[in-house]
Amino acid sequence: MDTQPIGSHFIGGLYVEDRAGELIEVVYPATGKVIARLHSATPSIISRALESAKSAQKIWAAMTGTQRGRVLRRAADIIRDRNHELSVLETYDTGKPYQETSVADATSGADSLEYFGGLAGSITGEHIQYGEDFIYTVREPLGVCVGIGAWNYPTQIACWKGAPALACGNSMVFKPSETTPLSALKVAEILMEAGAPAGLYNVIQGYGDVGAALVGDPRVDKVSLTGSVPTGRKVYAAAADGMKHVTLELGGKSPIIIFDDADIEAAVSGAILGNFYSSGQVCSNGTRVFVHKDIKQAFLKRLTERVSKAVIGDPMDPDTSFGPMVSKTQRDIVLGYIDQGVKEGATLVTGGKVIEGDGFFIQPTVFADVTDDMVIAREEIFGPVMAVLDFEDEGDVLARANDTEFGLAAGVFTQDLTRAHRVVARFEAGTCYINTYNDAPVEAPFGGTKMSGVGRENSKDALNHYSQSKSVYVRMSDLEAPF
Ligand code: NDP
Repeated sequence: MDTQPIGSHFIGGLYVEDRAGELIEVVYPATGKVIARLHSATPSIISRALESAKSAQKIWAAMTGTQRGRVLRRAADIIRDRNHELSVLETYDTGKPYQETSVADATSGADSLEYFGGLAGSITGEHIQYGEDFIYTVREPLGVCVGIGAWNYPTQIACWKGAPALACGNSMVFKPSETTPLSALKVAEILMEAGAPAGLYNVIQGYGDVGAALVGDPRVDKVSLTGSVPTGRKVYAAAADGMKHVTLELGGKSPIIIFDDADIEAAVSGAILGNFYSSGQVCSNGTRVFVHKDIKQAFLKRLTERVSKAVIGDPMDPDTSFGPMVSKTQRDIVLGYIDQGVKEGATLVTGGKVIEGDGFFIQPTVFADVTDDMVIAREEIFGPVMAVLDFEDEGDVLARANDTEFGLAAGVFTQDLTRAHRVVARFEAGTCYINTYNDAPVEAPFGGTKMSGVGRENSKDALNHYSQSKSVYVRMSDLEAPF
């Protein structure tokens, strides 16, 4: 597959290049080879993208919701038709196994375009009767939205931000992570093919400085970031200066609590899905696995057996179920945490080593006997490192589960449904799971509390974050004034 795009950016419906921008080398994480060379956006590229988005937004907002929805749904169909090609590209971009990308990346982007395409014609205000008078409200688009993405789900993030924004009548300038810049270009290309006006969805490449330039630009009305807490803080502060609307999907250190009555096989599945999918590079991962002491040995035994069955290797091989880390940098960060876990006295149950070769592979790693104060139990690692902690008492484990600055997700495994709901009610997290982990269908709101973010993606909730209410008071009776 030719992974070199014909231009670094997609603006006004066309691929655009400006070689004056800083070089971005795209590396295939499985081999360490450069597979494409792009350039970061220069100030003139940034300006072109914003101007393009500004004019397209006016044309788009003048269309009916149903017309807009039709374009989004057509784009969803094109993505599904081209799923194989897009999944191969996503695998090159991220290193994630094709076994995953073919079912979880372009397809979840298509779900989002289909879902918000379906809702676009139903975005309505309300009528409020006020005596003889009445008020009606209109949900208006915000204008030009900026999306800034992390590198773990490039296609999905481009769609999760684009689909609700476009459904509401906004336009978008999207900046992918420079680590994974390829897939969002395809989303822009497909939206054009589906009938979106030129300039409605633009993609520009760049490092953090390009993101910062977008966030600070007065032509921008809304910013939606998926990234780390430190970046979220900077983006939130910069957006506040221009009083811009903001959605922040940030990091986590989420808990999974496994009670002694849990179905062990299901709990092990949940822990695997919540730690090793995408080689652990998932924001909502349940990386603190609290296991009741009475089932600890049985849980660890079964977990170790199943982790040994991971097929690690060529991500393009459909049998491979565990790929490399996205970059050498990320691999080295994760190895640093593994060293720290060993030094702090956690028990290394399995994994912990680099897999020799040119790619950025690390073994899926499980630590047991982890305590709450260890760094591996407190900081987001964003790699395949599971920390297993012991507990005995429900109230105690809940307090420990909530004792974190993050609040993205949380899960509980138990056969006692009363207990499950009681525990979930006390979780300080935006996205909770009972007897499952990490399902994220577009129909459900997704997002975090505390330092894990602001606002929600997906579901009808997202529409409120990409539109605002205008209220119109209509007087039917005589109007009086004091003089
Ligand atoms: P970063 O925060 O490093 O970067 C996120 C994006 O922001 C990148 O495109 C980055 O560009 C850009 N950026 C960096 N600095 C600025 C700035 N000052 N202003 C505007 N944009 C900026 O995150 P990663 O890419 O390393 O992704 C990993 C993080 O993302 C983890 O913490 C993870 O938890 C979180 N995440 C959250 C999700 C959620 O939905 N809650 C989902 C997926 C990931 P550049 O890459 O060039 O620095």
